[in-house]
Amino acid sequence: MNHQEPDFNVERLGECRFPSPMRGVRFTTDGERILYHSRYQEMRPFIDSGREPPSMEMGGPRERIFFDPSTIACGIVTCGGLCPGTNDVIRALTLSLYHHYGVRRVYGFRYGFEGVVKRHGHSPLLLTPEVVDRIGELGGTILASSRGPQAPSEMVDYLEELGIAILFTIGGDGTLKGAAKIAEEAARRGRPISVIGIPKTIDNDVSFLQNTFGFETAVDEAHRAIYAAHTEATGARNGIGLVKLMGRDSGFIAAYSTLVNSQVNFCLVPEVPFTLAGFLKSLEERLALRGHAVIAVAEGAGQELLPAATESDASGNVKLGDIGTFLRDAINGHFRAIGTEITLKYIDPSYIIRSQPANSHDSAFCLLLGHNAVHAGMCGRTCMVVGNWNQQFTHVPIRLATHQRKKIDPKGRLWSSVLASTGQSREID
Ligand code: ATP
Ligand code: MG
Repeated sequence: MNHQEPDFNVERLGECRFPSPMRGVRFTTDGERILYHSRYQEMRPFIDSGREPPSMEMGGPRERIFFDPSTIACGIVTCGGLCPGTNDVIRALTLSLYHHYGVRRVYGFRYGFEGVVKRHGHSPLLLTPEVVDRIGELGGTILASSRGPQAPSEMVDYLEELGIAILFTIGGDGTLKGAAKIAEEAARRGRPISVIGIPKTIDNDVSFLQNTFGFETAVDEAHRAIYAAHTEATGARNGIGLVKLMGRDSGFIAAYSTLVNSQVNFCLVPEVPFTLAGFLKSLEERLALRGHAVIAVAEGAGQELLPAATESDASGNVKLGDIGTFLRDAINGHFRAIGTEITLKYIDPSYIIRSQPANSHDSAFCLLLGHNAVHAGMCGRTCMVVGNWNQQFTHVPIRLATHQRKKIDPKGRLWSSVLASTGQSREID
């Protein structure tokens, strides 16, 4: 192999000296691992040379654990934007800590990392089975969120004061980078604090993870918007339905929503640049041929057509230009200029999608992520996220998960299927 294989080694706090209080479960042994490569061609060099192929540690309850659960407190924090299923994860973590391990002090930090800094004065919420009873039915996060950095030293001060042994961070790449800094600071002080991330990114853009929670619900809801756009478009002469979807750097929501019922005629994603002239020409042809058109555009698509972004939010994320309204105005202007009457309906369902409760499949996924996160923390893993790979739950080091974003490969099978579904040309240029 001429490129370096990823290092899947997960940090451990120390030896697992306590027997797990869990009964009647199928324990995972430390030797159980999931192969990283599943394609024969990728495995062949390892088979030929007898080298160990790269593999990921498997999630699940261990027979022996690092912490004595009867003595510890645990914390949960949610950061960044809203994502369906966040409350399900909070519920699963709480119930697993409570019922599987007998932990009685589970603190829910309020307002993201701000709540992990004592001087901000947001008292943590004591989470019990009663408190989390029906939260899975609610969208958003009962703990609320915030953006903006906090000092790791101040956060670890408060974790130590509260006796937190395991901190669960539910958030995106920013949160995971923050989580890694907390783990580093705890290690520097020689404090055995486990930091376990549950990746929350509606865009499903985390490397080394096949799925993240909320994505399926997002595609469900996005399709409702596309259905509306299609209905509007077919209800008018030269009707155009334009839907802006989430996807800052990776267009997975737009791509999968395009595959639902194949109602989308143009799918525009950040990974595949296009020119305005090429797109408008294709749109003209489509209207001439079929009399209506549906466009799904990811928020990060076509940024090169807009003035360069200069603003950032409190966490340092660059504020994107609004490709949705830009395309709306450009399409209207173009057809006005060539004297063709169109009816364009623009739909931006982003906040509606983000605030949905999880659908059933996502909810079950959240429960399993939560359980696996608790098992990982209990056996002293740290600075890792719970992932899934080839239908199994895995432990992935934070440094790998945040190394680079997962993106659609414009030469890959997903994009090829999108093109086969829309009929749009490979390059709209
Ligand atoms: P989203 O996908 O919604 O953006 P996110 O977790 O990336 O989720 P951010 O607001 O970017 O959301 O970050 C969440 C928290 O993590 C914020 O408090 C932010 O200041 C902090 N954070 C972001 N980047 C870093 C970093 N490099 N180091 C330490 N903390 C960070
Ligand atoms: Mg972010």
